[in-house]
Amino acid sequence: MHYRNFDTAVYIPALVASLMTEEKLGSDYAFIEKYIGLDKVYLETFRDGLEVNKEQILMIKRFLEDKGVKVSGGITTVTPDFDGAVPGKRRLFNTFCYTDPAMKDKAKQISGYAAGLFDEVILDDFYFTNCTCESCIKQKGDRDWVSFRRDLMRDVSENLIVGPAKAVNPGVRMIVKYPNWRESYHFTGYLPDEQQKIFDATYIGTETRSPEYTDQHLPEYLSYSLVRYIENAWPGRNGGGWFDTYQCWSADRYLEQAYLTAFAKARELMFFQWDDLIGNYFAGGAGIQLKKIDGMLEGTGEPAGIPSYIPYASSGENHLEMRLGMLGIPVDPTPVFPSDGKLILLTESSVSDPEIINRLESFVKAGGDAVITTGFMNKLGDSINKIGLTEAQVTGRKLGVTRYQITDDRAGYIDDVKPVVFPEIVHGNNASWSLINGGDGDYHTPILLQSNYGKGRIFILSIPDNPSDMYVIPDPVTDRLKRIISPDCFASGKGFSMFTYGDGSMILYRYVKDDIRPAHVRLYTADNARALVDAVTGEVFEAVPCFFPEKWDRKRYMMADVVLVPGVFRKVKWE
Ligand SMILES: [Zn+2]
Repeated sequence: MHYRNFDTAVYIPALVASLMTEEKLGSDYAFIEKYIGLDKVYLETFRDGLEVNKEQILMIKRFLEDKGVKVSGGITTVTPDFDGAVPGKRRLFNTFCYTDPAMKDKAKQISGYAAGLFDEVILDDFYFTNCTCESCIKQKGDRDWVSFRRDLMRDVSENLIVGPAKAVNPGVRMIVKYPNWRESYHFTGYLPDEQQKIFDATYIGTETRSPEYTDQHLPEYLSYSLVRYIENAWPGRNGGGWFDTYQCWSADRYLEQAYLTAFAKARELMFFQWDDLIGNYFAGGAGIQLKKIDGMLEGTGEPAGIPSYIPYASSGENHLEMRLGMLGIPVDPTPVFPSDGKLILLTESSVSDPEIINRLESFVKAGGDAVITTGFMNKLGDSINKIGLTEAQVTGRKLGVTRYQITDDRAGYIDDVKPVVFPEIVHGNNASWSLINGGDGDYHTPILLQSNYGKGRIFILSIPDNPSDMYVIPDPVTDRLKRIISPDCFASGKGFSMFTYGDGSMILYRYVKDDIRPAHVRLYTADNARALVDAVTGEVFEAVPCFFPEKWDRKRYMMADVVLVPGVFRKVKWE
């Protein structure tokens, strides 16, 4: 074991395994062990029609086990057409057609084969179906694709994957790895709610690569928040987070994936894949940085954050919670409605819970604060007005905002800023209260609107049409939001994330992105702290008291400044 707070694992795909020689294995192992430290290997037996023969698998397995490395199996369920299967189906990525008898047999066979060689087997994240062949259309019948694939993949999981594996090796631990596209799982038959009853454990993709230029535009914060989501979905059963080198055009971009996966306390960090690491300078950086992170995580307890309710099989305002994470707001997404919480974030995705309106009403009436987005409002329609939670409405019109007003601040005007298009909200004056206005000319619309209900409050947060514009909203505006969404402790500014833990410590990380200069970040706590202390260097930043000009719920904060250098994480704590 090389680190105390996580293990390091490397994946060997079938092609790499099939070409491996003992000599290459020896030199590769020495490289990986030296630079990253190797606790575990997932050794793939099947991918894209290639099955690695038993002797080859056992040669690699023996070599690694002799070095003290744990070895588990891996399967990637993709295959080209083969004899017996109906040819010519348009299967994206060569994923299986699970209504084709020959492919069903193949799935059974590869699962049994891996289970015969290993006591633990992971499925790489091609274990989904997008097949729309004639046979799949016929079996779908009157159901929609989501419902059909849900039924299909439940059956496949039980009877073609886990069942056959356990028949060969009753003690085998079967792991289903989920991809980094949570918002689309249900479209392709990924069912974390159902599959947790079938599989022993899960795993999660934390690859974010280069958000601007890759097909998925994933905020960097995903590498943290998706681990938290899946941990909240399968408590105690998430094996780890998995990232790769692809489309990471700098070591920083690559390593940020590893940092955030570790900050989320993934039990294993999976480096995909073996050959990509060999001779790669990214590997050297990983070892150096992970040792520091391992030290920082010591004694921090569980990650904590603002619960963002994202039900299973939901989509809408995708990745929005991650964008808030990119603004330095610590977010903890969960598929379980946190009914006992103090504050909750609800986005358009939350509306796929058919009970959401009643849950929201009870939560707020009992004294909770709910931050709900304009996407949430839109999707709900007027039921939120009918139930009486607010009279405010999202009109469907848009406004190009060039000016902001922080309404509680007598001098809270910010003019002539880069235009951002927001949805228009109309509300009853003095029935609810706008905390932030955004406008142009002599017109404006609320950006953050407060409605009171029972013992609690509802805050409607306006989300720009292009969610990336959240990064260009001026700092005093996002700070006002932070005093609502994270009222006890927050950090001013943007370009960094803040990760908070059960012991009160905070890890701050400024991304190597756009603006690659060091920056001041001002931290605020509502506790009566004396100073902010860097837990690694011991530096002490004296705290001074301050007030914000809030009309209601005005409180005294203690504040202190730290400098964040891009690419350098630091751990701080109030004392
Ligand atoms: Zn099909």
